[in-house]
Amino acid sequence: MSTAFEDNINRARSYLERFAAGTLGHFIGGKACAGDTGETFPNHCPADGSLINRVAAGNEADIDAACAAAREAFAGWAAVPGEQRGALLHGIADVIEARADEIALVESMDTGQALRFTAGAAVRAATNFRFFADRAPDARRGRSLPAGEHDNYTMRQPIGPVGVITPWNTPFMLATWKIAPALAAGCTVVHKPAEWSPLTAQLLAEICAEAGLPPGVLNTVQGIGEQAGKALTEHDAIRAIAFVGESTTGARIMAQGAPTLKRVHFELGGKNPVVVFDDANLERALDAVVFMIYSLNGERCTSSSRLLVQQSIHDEFVERVAERARAIRVGHPLDPDTEVGPLIHAEHLAKVTGYFEIARAEGATIAAGGERADLPWPGHFVKPTLFTGASNDMRIAREEIFGPVLTAMPFADEDDALAQANDTPYGLAAYLWTADSARADRLSRDLEVGMVWVNSQNVRHLPTPFGGMKASGIGRDGGDYSFDFYMETKNVSVAIGEHRIPQLGAVGAD
Ligand code: NAD
Repeated sequence: MSTAFEDNINRARSYLERFAAGTLGHFIGGKACAGDTGETFPNHCPADGSLINRVAAGNEADIDAACAAAREAFAGWAAVPGEQRGALLHGIADVIEARADEIALVESMDTGQALRFTAGAAVRAATNFRFFADRAPDARRGRSLPAGEHDNYTMRQPIGPVGVITPWNTPFMLATWKIAPALAAGCTVVHKPAEWSPLTAQLLAEICAEAGLPPGVLNTVQGIGEQAGKALTEHDAIRAIAFVGESTTGARIMAQGAPTLKRVHFELGGKNPVVVFDDANLERALDAVVFMIYSLNGERCTSSSRLLVQQSIHDEFVERVAERARAIRVGHPLDPDTEVGPLIHAEHLAKVTGYFEIARAEGATIAAGGERADLPWPGHFVKPTLFTGASNDMRIAREEIFGPVLTAMPFADEDDALAQANDTPYGLAAYLWTADSARADRLSRDLEVGMVWVNSQNVRHLPTPFGGMKASGIGRDGGDYSFDFYMETKNVSVAIGEHRIPQLGAVGAD
């Protein structure tokens, strides 16, 4: 064990001590609280299976208390001038930066994500707050739409208390990506983090309180999706639900929220194609293909999990991907050398390894991995895996595996590439590698996805729209798109002259 690794383990242990000491509860109205029933569930470390702590299983009463706190805090928070809200959000970013080491180490132990990625995610979380902090003063600004005898102008106002429901992959960063714009818009929030990654949600609630966010503006209720999550989506104080997770859960949430007419924003699953043409810069394409499926354990909505390679270069390119996959360092998430850590949960491990059997049964070839990795810790380690000899109608090409598992398929020409890329229920992202810019433009237009990266890995620019088509989502985040979701647009029409008003019932009127 290297000194740096040992050092990380010791620091993580000291950060986790407080969680091990008792049950992790909720954060409601500015205070930590135990929860209504005393019911709890265990939270295990994916790297070694050890019990980190127990977590309160929030129920309807806990959600009700959190929603009441959010409702009570709403008018006050919405009335805070945007400049002040922005300053407070910058303060939250400062505290995130000051506690970045703690956030990254706790997140790695809670999720199994390698520290090299969680460290970046903590920094990105602070950037999310700063980005929306800077936009808070203008969030309300509308448009001037003058017409004949009327001046029309629009304004945006925070929609009200909102629910934010997040998944377990990159949980801290994703929570900030949803919560920062909501707070900047003037909404109050009830956050329900994923049950497999509860720890950093508590850190975020504490950090916000430490930075001076008024009580009740951000409330966190831990718990199981079908219980706490469901209650949140059904609560009549909540005006909108921002949800990130599986497509099937999104469908359920839409039904649960229907009776109270919830506005919803869904960021759901993906089976994203990366299309490599024979004229591409193949060295850069190789780096990007490998990075975009095996980083973050492949537990990434925008991972390029379907590799479509032009027939003329298919065998050689795919063999190079296999070589790289075999060389990826699987290890403990706190080892600085680790590139792929353990999968988050035993259930998820079973799902991912189940696809090794499915691939064999479907007649695909396992060109790399396809088995668990043997390491000194009893965690959920799997080898980075590549399936070849696949076709787009196989389950390994259609279903979101959400692990370090790539399915490669050949294509003949541009039309074939497009047809295969679009032949999926999902429509989140696509990656194109070609030197032909006209072809890249044509495909970018015709691909049924919310985001296309051309000759690029997934580099996020925060003002750009993020989201998917088809089963990958509804709505867009980023920049002003986030404010459109968290705010209502109101139009005011002011007569500036004597426009005609029909005189119903008046004597002599026509
Ligand atoms: P999940 O749908 O199982 O759970 C997500 C959240 O929803 C959790 O907090 C869970 O407790 C809650 N939940 C579950 N059932 C609920 C219900 N009936 N009502 C309310 N809440 C409920 O997803 P997951 O397994 O945690 O995350 C992985 C999924 O998230 C993948 O499909 C991945 O693609 C997707 N994801 C998408 C994006 C994106 O931007 N499109 C980003 C990250 C992850």
